[in-house]
Amino acid sequence: MSTTTFTSSVLAPHARGVELGRRFAGEIADTVARYRTLCETRARGPFDVDLWAARAWTTIQRVAPGHADEIAGIAEGAGLPVEAVASINARTEILVAANPTGQTECSTVIALPPGRPPVAVQTWDWYDAMSDGWFTWTIPFPDGRVVQTVTEFGMLAKIGVNDRGVGVMLNMLHHANDAGAVAGGEIGHPVHLLSRAILDDAASVDEAVAIASAPPTTASTSLTVVDDRGGAVTIELFPGGPGLRLAEDGVLVRTNHFVSEAGRDGCLAGTIGISTELRRDHLVAAFAERLPQSTQDVYDAMTHHLADGGVCRHPLTDTDPVLWHRTLATVGIDAAARTLDVHENGPCGHRLAPVEQTV
Ligand SMILES: [Zn+2]
Repeated sequence: MSTTTFTSSVLAPHARGVELGRRFAGEIADTVARYRTLCETRARGPFDVDLWAARAWTTIQRVAPGHADEIAGIAEGAGLPVEAVASINARTEILVAANPTGQTECSTVIALPPGRPPVAVQTWDWYDAMSDGWFTWTIPFPDGRVVQTVTEFGMLAKIGVNDRGVGVMLNMLHHANDAGAVAGGEIGHPVHLLSRAILDDAASVDEAVAIASAPPTTASTSLTVVDDRGGAVTIELFPGGPGLRLAEDGVLVRTNHFVSEAGRDGCLAGTIGISTELRRDHLVAAFAERLPQSTQDVYDAMTHHLADGGVCRHPLTDTDPVLWHRTLATVGIDAAARTLDVHENGPCGHRLAPVEQTV
């Protein structure tokens, strides 16, 4: 479990990466090793992690040279091959190549209460083995911009907020086009680097949509963006996409099935399980009764346990521990104050608590 925080010195990308890599060399090496194990466990046959890591590095250098500089610095500081750090940044794309289905995870809410600042919350559901693998990173840029992100060691961003009042949250999706996109050995623009690009450069929801929509991707994902003026959108990235969905009646609820017209027909979430539907239905119903006024209101609604997978996820411990899966963190974004409210574990606060049936 992790509530580690780190603030970089004001540096250019490569030097910033070196500083981070030196500070967290052991944690970054652990993250590389855990993803190697996870990919090999999730793949249904032989899977060459090194080949895909090399492909990831080739893509990143081409599509995001500034981010490539930072990743090269992290690798140098941590004493790791640059392809290894590239593989963390493209771990979603590489996991899709290993097995295009996997798990469904993460629930996200934006609420726009009249007369109050926007409220945004995400539960980050991921592998229990990664419990120590994340931190909150503050990045001050030489030109005065500031990015804060909850991310994994060695990965440039995940959930975050910037000094211009733009926040980003991230949910994995599964689309029929994913398998075709990776069949030729291609890796598209890593989605975590698109999150970082939004945090680096966007000053509004509209700018975030433009940044996320342009490049081709190979691992379906939604980036849900809020700004301090009440802008709110979920951008559903998939090969052939994107699709967009706006807030309705002041609320936007996002789980792991497509909710845009463009993405809906290729959605594979139903082949994985019903948790994504149960979580969305629960949150939509909860907020239809009363629009959340604060992050605490959302945390309360997210304290929801079901045997089939409620919003607050606890691991089923009868499987291979490599595949234990739960809510690792609950993060609130205050886009108006430009702050993150970071909690380890799910909204109930417990890691291995017995799952009680509640409705
Ligand atoms: Zn719980």
